[in-house]
Amino acid sequence: MTTANEFEDVLKMIEELTANAEQIQEQLLAHILKKNAGTEYLSRYLNGKTDKELFKTNVPVVSYEDIKPYIDRIADGDKSNILSADSVIEFYRSSGTSEGKPKLIPVTAETHDLRILFFTMLTSVLKKHFGNINQTGKRLEFMFAKQEIDTPSGLKARSVTTSFYRDQGFRNIASRRYTSPIEAIFCSDPNQSMYCQLLVGLLQRDEVVEVASNFATAVLRAIKFLEDYWKELCSNIRSGQLSDWITDSGCRNAVSSIMEPNPQLADSIQNICGCKLWDGIIKKLWPKAKFIGAVVTGVMSQYVETLEFYGGGLPLVSNLYGSSEAFCGINLEILTEPSHVSYTFIPNMAYFEFLPVNKDSIPMSQEDVEPVDLMHVKLDQYYELLVTSSAGLYRYKVGDVLKVTGFHNTTPRFQFVERQNVILSIDSDKTSEADLLKAVTEAKTNLDQLGVSLVGHTSYADTSSIPGHYVVFWELKAKEGNDGQDQLDPRVMEECCYRMEESLNYIYRSYRKQNCIAALEMRVVKQGSFDALMDYYVSGGASMSQYKTPSCLNSKEVIEILESRVMGKFFSPKIPIQIKLDLFSSIRTDMKPSAESERTLMSDVLNCHNIMNQKLPSPPALVGNPH
Ligand code: AMP
Repeated sequence: MTTANEFEDVLKMIEELTANAEQIQEQLLAHILKKNAGTEYLSRYLNGKTDKELFKTNVPVVSYEDIKPYIDRIADGDKSNILSADSVIEFYRSSGTSEGKPKLIPVTAETHDLRILFFTMLTSVLKKHFGNINQTGKRLEFMFAKQEIDTPSGLKARSVTTSFYRDQGFRNIASRRYTSPIEAIFCSDPNQSMYCQLLVGLLQRDEVVEVASNFATAVLRAIKFLEDYWKELCSNIRSGQLSDWITDSGCRNAVSSIMEPNPQLADSIQNICGCKLWDGIIKKLWPKAKFIGAVVTGVMSQYVETLEFYGGGLPLVSNLYGSSEAFCGINLEILTEPSHVSYTFIPNMAYFEFLPVNKDSIPMSQEDVEPVDLMHVKLDQYYELLVTSSAGLYRYKVGDVLKVTGFHNTTPRFQFVERQNVILSIDSDKTSEADLLKAVTEAKTNLDQLGVSLVGHTSYADTSSIPGHYVVFWELKAKEGNDGQDQLDPRVMEECCYRMEESLNYIYRSYRKQNCIAALEMRVVKQGSFDALMDYYVSGGASMSQYKTPSCLNSKEVIEILESRVMGKFFSPKIPIQIKLDLFSSIRTDMKPSAESERTLMSDVLNCHNIMNQKLPSPPALVGNPH
């Protein structure tokens, strides 16, 4: 067990690492090159040499597809030093995909131990703000192990979290620190797993100091589940008997062993859940909870409002930024409100480089397009993250765009901006996840007058007619408890469509003006539709704890899930204006557009119509992101 002193030591370690980031990064790269220079992959570029300059000039920046053949050979059982001199002990299955299949990221004992260290750091940071939560109570964390795959080599491929739950260290402390029984975490039926995790969380409600999941979606999923099952849960608590439909023997044994009839507890839960309005339900049910822990940045930011509604004032703590490729950053100021959360990179986790991203469409010099080291990123600039790890990733594009927002000691802090993807496109317009989120955020302010809030949103590019148009699906929830259906005032909903269009980037608006893109359409879906979407992905193998609502849907089958639940369709009533006025709004305010860039932007806009006249709208470039 980690003692109070050890927690202090870990906090000190974070301070030391972030105060000496440059040195730590240099040492880490030297260590990786020394260890792996002789591997098949690196020797192609370095000829056995280990100096940093050669690494920077010779080793290419790559995507998963570039190294997939090497990874496939390891998965197939080739034991030679292909990417790393260390043995691969397992693969992490990323929620990102390559050719429709999950990416497999090699893991060695060294990189595995780094993850464990990272988790210890996270706990220490939590303890600094909330006291020793491991001693004052238990953590109700909704955890779902994902199915594991055996590769032909016999190595397992599992999600990072599943690997963590398998770790003996976690198992040793799990029952003391978490309410969820390990058997429920590993139960293959997500409904039985959720039911049991909720039941045990309710049985121990006076001990719970944190309500959490990896991503915000699983906490909300738990609340929805509670809405559907609270009467049955109360009846189980009252009688001390577990429902018959919990047939998983592990779950049954683990939960039954701690159940006894408790009518008093059942009454108090029933009183809370029986209220019409569920605002603050998390705080009411778990009165000692100090915070809600879940990633609420990036695509998860769409859930902040709903989580805050249920949280009843509990702070939302989005404490880490990481991926299967590497764990990268910790939110050291954990009480920061979600929209301002930044993650300080931990310099011993991986060797980090940053590829400048041109968010402003301003031509960049050659120097500006070269990857820079962690210590050379500039404040307010956007970068795509590259990772080099001792497990055999070299200058690997993770696919995320980050923005530098400040420094902790000497180490940069980053805000998560988006997954590097264009998610919507009818022609040459390019709408990113961040563009869409911004437009939705603008538009949803109109909902206040209807007394409804946005529960979930997604989109797709509909090219079934010419010109094509953007379709956004919205699920609404009335703040007063009914389903919001009778509040769908067409005038307000059309205004929402229009506000979205106005908020989208200038290329979109210029194409709209020239009728290269038809009016944006909003389809309001029935309550529970986004849960049905999640069920679909989970039943197809996605992990509930890794699931993130895709910002854009990319298959007919998935679109049909929402389509069949549409209860109202609305279109933007007019062409968005302010094209000229807004032309430079996408350019950073601290940078004046040069005459050259002004000309380029103007001609882009004006050329649009000519381009359109030459060709019919091309098929949508849908890059779905089921993260
Ligand atoms: P996976 O490799 O499946 O665990 O997914 C990792 C991806 O989840 C990252 O590359 C990000 O796109 C996303 N992600 C992880 N942490 C955060 C965060 N704190 N905020 C926003 N997105 C995140």
